[in-house]
Amino acid sequence: MSEAAILERIRKLAETRNAAVVRGIGDDCAVVRPNLNTDLVFTTDFLIEDRHFRLAEQSAVAIGHRALARSLSDLAAMGSQPVFCMVSLALAPRLTGRWLSGFYRGLIRLADEFGMALAGGDLSQAEKVVADVMCCGKVPRGKALLRSGARPGDVVYVTGKLGRPWTLRPVPRIAEGISLRRVATAAMDISDGLSLDLRRLCLESGVSAELESAAIPIFRGATLERALHGGEDYELVFTTRPRTRTRFIRVGVIGRGRPGTVLLDGKPLRAGGFDHFRETRS
Ligand SMILES: [Mg+2]
Repeated sequence: MSEAAILERIRKLAETRNAAVVRGIGDDCAVVRPNLNTDLVFTTDFLIEDRHFRLAEQSAVAIGHRALARSLSDLAAMGSQPVFCMVSLALAPRLTGRWLSGFYRGLIRLADEFGMALAGGDLSQAEKVVADVMCCGKVPRGKALLRSGARPGDVVYVTGKLGRPWTLRPVPRIAEGISLRRVATAAMDISDGLSLDLRRLCLESGVSAELESAAIPIFRGATLERALHGGEDYELVFTTRPRTRTRFIRVGVIGRGRPGTVLLDGKPLRAGGFDHFRETRS
């Protein structure tokens, strides 16, 4: 199939619009018109065959969903509302038929749930599937949730159960992230495991954290080990001032220890989550 025909197919699938996206697919660039009282946040994420998924194990629809869910989870972590995404996809010619349509259907269905436009991207050939998804979200000026605001005495929360199996489609916590803008002092999403991601939040904030194992909410069928180090949960971890009330799950407190240290029941917790440049998942 020709590139023009493929693009036309994607364009038809991507017909939904977001009001801020003045011009989407079909021109040299997308045109986006933000409002002056708005900050835009951007993120980009790779999803690579045999690194993040296997073609034989997942449907094209599920892979398209996951490709966008990863970036949407970062938008959620900033407390932002999705505006548009751009998708660059490289794949083998034999996949440009049903597989490609399925991929975009899965991706666009998730984008639609959040009123997000697919505003452009690129297509190329490669031996293995490589998807690079860029997402833009909006947040009221100065209100983006950062990793750097946690202070000693703050309480640590997570938005849901951890240790979710890879095969379930993650639902990005967009609504939760937006609700946290009023209460959170710091936030991030759990994409590489609570132990590693909380360490990253602590490093940015210059603080330590202490978790209580009995308080960690564990996904049905998972172990505490998996809940702490599993990754791919796409829940949010956030902190609030001690007196703030939230409906989420309290898992620990922020301390004054060496920045980046995370303790579990008083003992140092190794950061065993997913490090992209280590060979194996621990
Ligand atoms: Mg993140």
